[in-house]
Amino acid sequence: MVYQTVNPYTNELVKEYPFATDEELQDTITLADKTFHDMLSQPIAERAKILHKVAELFREKSDELSEICTVDMGKLVGESAGEVELCAIIADWFADHSEDLLKPDKLDSIVAGDAQVLHQPVGVVVMVEPWNFPYYQIMRVFAPNFMLGNTMILKHASNTPTSAKRFCEVVEEAGAPKGALTNMFLTYDQVTKAIEDPRVQGAALTGSERGGVAVAGAAGKALKKSTMELGGMDPFIVLGDADMDALADIAWRVRLYNAGQVCTSAKRFIVMDNVYDRFVDDMVEAFSKVTPGDPMDPKTTIAPMNSKRAKEKLQNQFDEAVAAGAKIAYQFPEIDSKGQFFRPAVLTDITPDNPAYKTEMFGPVAAIYKVHSEEEAIAVANDNPYGLGGMLFCGDKDHGAEVAAKVYTGMMFVNTPLASLPDIPFGGVKLSGYGREMSRLGQMAFTNDKLLVTADHFDKTNAPGALFAAQDL
Ligand code: NAP
Repeated sequence: MVYQTVNPYTNELVKEYPFATDEELQDTITLADKTFHDMLSQPIAERAKILHKVAELFREKSDELSEICTVDMGKLVGESAGEVELCAIIADWFADHSEDLLKPDKLDSIVAGDAQVLHQPVGVVVMVEPWNFPYYQIMRVFAPNFMLGNTMILKHASNTPTSAKRFCEVVEEAGAPKGALTNMFLTYDQVTKAIEDPRVQGAALTGSERGGVAVAGAAGKALKKSTMELGGMDPFIVLGDADMDALADIAWRVRLYNAGQVCTSAKRFIVMDNVYDRFVDDMVEAFSKVTPGDPMDPKTTIAPMNSKRAKEKLQNQFDEAVAAGAKIAYQFPEIDSKGQFFRPAVLTDITPDNPAYKTEMFGPVAAIYKVHSEEEAIAVANDNPYGLGGMLFCGDKDHGAEVAAKVYTGMMFVNTPLASLPDIPFGGVKLSGYGREMSRLGQMAFTNDKLLVTADHFDKTNAPGALFAAQDL
């Protein structure tokens, strides 16, 4: 593993970064710990101002940041700009809401005194993030934890180092104290060492099972709290009375956005038999109309994948799926480019014994399943090791909500595309991980929820429980 920006469209090595030394890691943890203690006496309103400034700078520097992101991992420059704006929205939202979210919860208790739960910071958090949304993944952890007063050390994906570095520079430029968020080009061993350090109190990872097992394992061994945002094979269920004209415009987008490299991309289209043929035809037509090309060109509608390695992995999975009996309903013609393009494809007839049935394909491949009843749709949706999100489209939204409630995932959207926004929680179950980011749930991911009981004076007769009962004997 090396930290390199290699442009996936041109294959040029743009920049390489050296690994951090162990000494630098120690210095960074020391600084992060000191900054954490310094921030304990800083009013939260001051951090809100800084976070609003981060949002402002993201908007101001949108063109520059978008280009960095597109060169790092290949996404369409318009999608990069959307990601930069989403970061600004998240920063503004936590700047506006964290103080309220973190207000103490008063408890109605039989304890002798007034009981409340304070939400306090815990210290230094290590975050390990993936390349597919190089800024937004950082912001989801940074914004709530910065408002809370935790400090963070970032280990980003090795193929998006320039985005990581620039994100942290912008945060510092906005006025965040040094040590509030530090990007480091760490080896895997150094990530483990950082998590083991007694000054570090938590670890957040977004990525695959591979990264999740390593980081959650290190955190578990060191008895540190962790949150895991992992992979997904989100179902996209189409009931027999769905609005097929609307779906013709939505279904392909939720698979091809970000070149299909989204944890919550619709990875399994589960379609009722009466609308199945129409659905497949519409998907094939949409896939045949995409325009591959330079992701910096606004006319391009399908981007290269993020790396040669990712393209090769998807090609192997695709070949295995076809060898095991999946039918190729469509595949885009050869693309004359040295960019890491995978030709968008539509697969059908994936049977439960096909490896593709339970393997996440992280790229522009739509897998469509035909079902004959709602019960079968739910059974297929749930017959999967992942449980991140999902969508369901139907004629009657109340009925849709009943069906969606039976799908075992962390998020379901009925008649509307899945969205990730700061005021709604994000996260999954099963192999998709645990914990939530965004919203109040994400705000509380790394808090010390401290019980504080206060009484005017000690009154033995008011003290319930065995303690005084025993002494009175
Ligand atoms: P990955 O290999 O797990 O990488 C994610 C991060 O973990 C990278 O920074 C990676 O560093 C690091 N990492 C990997 N192994 C590690 C180890 N042993 N010790 C320390 N750090 C380690 O994931 P990916 O394949 O690049 O990302 C795509 C996956 O992420 C997909 O499965 C996708 O569904 C999932 N994802 C989930 C969410 C969500 O919110 N649930 C969001 C986006 C993506 P290196 O780059 O240096 O290997």
